[in-house]
Amino acid sequence: AKQDGRGGFRFFEPSLDEAARRRRQIETDLRVAIRTGQLQLNFQPIVASDGGSIRGFEALLRWPHPERGFIPPVEFIPVAEETGLIVQLGEWVLHEACRIAAGWPENIRVAVNVSPLQFRSAGFSDVVLQALARSGLSPDRLEIEITESVFLDGETGVLQILHLLRRMGVRVALDDFGTGYSSLSYLRSFPFDKIKIDRSFVTNIAEDSTAAAIVKAIVDLATALSMETTAEGVEDRSQHAKLQAQGCSTLQGYLFSRPLDIAAVTRMLSENTKA
Ligand code: C2E
Ligand code: CA
Ligand code: CA
Ligand code: CA
Repeated sequence: AKQDGRGGFRFFEPSLDEAARRRRQIETDLRVAIRTGQLQLNFQPIVASDGGSIRGFEALLRWPHPERGFIPPVEFIPVAEETGLIVQLGEWVLHEACRIAAGWPENIRVAVNVSPLQFRSAGFSDVVLQALARSGLSPDRLEIEITESVFLDGETGVLQILHLLRRMGVRVALDDFGTGYSSLSYLRSFPFDKIKIDRSFVTNIAEDSTAAAIVKAIVDLATALSMETTAEGVEDRSQHAKLQAQGCSTLQGYLFSRPLDIAAVTRMLSENTKA
């Protein structure tokens, strides 16, 4: 806010009206984007903490808007959730991610983010089955990432789907671990294959002994429960060293690579097999 000449304040934050208008604009444009194929997937490597070999990639949506440049997922995913468009969009993401990963070496997985509304939508498990069947991707190479918010409207139906995915041989990761209110209780409800430790704990791990103690506790807990761990948002060597010392098995972040387009992934994988 800035002081105006009359001792009052003028606010420059967008008004509620403006925010609502922008949301409606995103909704309209997103429908067009889905119909005309504007959306793309990028892939960020997930690497072994010892040695750095590539274990998989996380698929991340990118929307190069024809007039307004890249619109970040944090802006359009919530709109897609509110409007239900996420179901259609998420179906496309699953098909596309499986199709692309089917062309990678067999030891490389693909992780796909699934939002709560999509996960709970009727026919979600059929969409997964279809994406696997159409692509020929082996189920154990697909990892579904969900956050604990998927449980907020009740656990029962969600657990059924989780067990169904498990029976299909698909892996399940609990994303953004530690940011919610009751992450621990969900570890009791379902044997996730992986816990993804949220970036907020990783950022200060080298300087902040509290953050370091929390990460250590998460890794020890995951290990005791036979769950793999991935630390998100690893940006420098001191974080890498600390996470490796604490026994975190896989790492993801700008230190290793930003999310890459498909051509860059192909190049990285061919360098990787040459080495
Ligand atoms: P997320 O699932 O927690 O994804 C990780 C985010 O951290 C990505 O942001 C990634 O680009 C970013 N990141 C990775 N390494 C670093 C790092 O070293 N430093 C920093 N500062 N950031 C890093 P992005 O791509 O903007 O995605 C944001 C969120 O949007 C994702 O968070 C996810 O919740 C959602 N999202 C993205 N793609 C999809 C999708 O296909 N479906 C659904 N439902 N959600 C998606
Ligand atoms: Ca994720
Ligand atoms: Ca995450
Ligand atoms: Ca996140």
